[in-house]
Amino acid sequence: MKGVTIISHPLVQHNLTRLRDKRTGPQEFRRVLSEVAALMLYEATRSFAVEPVAVATPLASARGFQLRREVVLVPILRAGLGMLDSILQLIPHAGVGFIGLKREETTLRATSYHKSLPANLGRFEVILIDPMLATGGSAVAAMDLMTERGAKHVRLVNLVAAPEGIRHVHSRYPKLPIFTAAVDRKLNEKGYILPGLGDAGDRLFGV
Ligand code: URA
Repeated sequence: MKGVTIISHPLVQHNLTRLRDKRTGPQEFRRVLSEVAALMLYEATRSFAVEPVAVATPLASARGFQLRREVVLVPILRAGLGMLDSILQLIPHAGVGFIGLKREETTLRATSYHKSLPANLGRFEVILIDPMLATGGSAVAAMDLMTERGAKHVRLVNLVAAPEGIRHVHSRYPKLPIFTAAVDRKLNEKGYILPGLGDAGDRLFGV
């Protein structure tokens, strides 16, 4: 699928399978989701722009690289929080924005109830984080909010994606790179991913 990177690393796939398992309770779910998010981050940031810099080691000068842009992580509340901490440990200098979106039960439309984002997002590498890409409504709503703030360099990281969600997101944002551990079969009539892993927020927080 164009614009979609499926992260097939064995550790990612092993952990995804544990998350899918309905016997995995909230405590283990939180830990494994956190681990898998860190593993996925390597692949998702592989194409970050870098620029050459000179550095003095204790012995000589060396040439190296530094990230061209600062990084902002934007988890979509609430399930995105489950992937935030471990990513932040790997990029401790990253800023963090938040977008709170609620899915209306009947229409499945995403409406925003919270937003805190840096003013000029255009100068940042933005990583939009949500474990589940289902209808794509939340990702599109988040992209709309971030585009209003000037976001240009955004990548979307989802643990599991539905083909319907990918199509929806790419119909509105064709150039948005999507990184996921799996593209599942389809959505059910309630907008849940099949086979998926259930409601990621509920499984994380036990409600
Ligand atoms: N959100 C979830 O948490 N799970 C799904 O399957 C779809 C949306």
